[in-house]
Amino acid sequence: MSYENLAGRTAVVTGAASGIGEAVAVELAAQGARVALLARRAERLETLVGKVRADGGQALAVVADVTDDASVAAAVERVHEAYGSVDLVVNNAGVMLPNPIADARVDEWQRMIDTNLTGVLRLIGALADDLTAAAAEGRTADLVNVSSIGAHVTGFTNYAVYGATKAAVTHLSALLRNEFGPRDVRVTNIEPGLVGTELATHIDNDGLREQVDGMVEALGTLAPADLADLVAYATSRPRHVNLRQLVVLPTRQV
Ligand code: NDP
Repeated sequence: MSYENLAGRTAVVTGAASGIGEAVAVELAAQGARVALLARRAERLETLVGKVRADGGQALAVVADVTDDASVAAAVERVHEAYGSVDLVVNNAGVMLPNPIADARVDEWQRMIDTNLTGVLRLIGALADDLTAAAAEGRTADLVNVSSIGAHVTGFTNYAVYGATKAAVTHLSALLRNEFGPRDVRVTNIEPGLVGTELATHIDNDGLREQVDGMVEALGTLAPADLADLVAYATSRPRHVNLRQLVVLPTRQV
């Protein structure tokens, strides 16, 4: 699908080493945007950038850990040096580490909060001025946050902390429209259901990992490319149109 309004834009996509972020980065580049790919795994990013460039697109690998202030600051500096100011931010990096709350896995709670919530905030803090300046110049400016259906659905036992981080992202996205909307910066919150990615491979509880496998088998998954198409669609609307909340599920997931 070819979308207007993405050629010539400058995007930052976090969590671009795999899954949804990888697909979003590839799609935005295919639509003519210059795309900075942020994640921790340098090799994955370099391979991906090579593929984008081979297809005629513009991409930049920027190794960054969104849980680290200095790393995010250095990454944004690198993007500015290479591409100048940014007008499209996709906050996608995230981790899902379910376990019973009674296990008191403070390490996992901390990692999820620091990646899924504070990581999102770090990027917004570092790039808010870019977005508002782009919009003030009459360009289209987008902040896209990848939350989860887990922000709303209460039936996922042992996912309380993950769900809480995603509920925070969803609410943050809604509240940020108060600050960004009047400045012509769009905020789009996306809540996917099951997507076929590496996300569940980090679960260290065998029973819970098998439970996800069972859901995938029963319900099927969205492909990362489905999410990439949605991001490209939302960010390519005319600048006065803000799709603020998108819930996207595999058809069998109710
Ligand atoms: P993946 O595990 O495939 O992708 C996660 C990405 O985040 C990777 O590129 C990873 O790269 C990056 N990442 C993780 N931690 C950090 C960090 N500290 N700093 C920088 N990058 C980091 O899973 P998905 O593609 O599924 O996940 C993308 C988003 O989608 C997440 O926010 C997830 O919560 C959300 N989501 C996913 C769903 C699904 O079913 N898959 C459903 C609903 C929401 P690296 O390890 O190299 O840093």
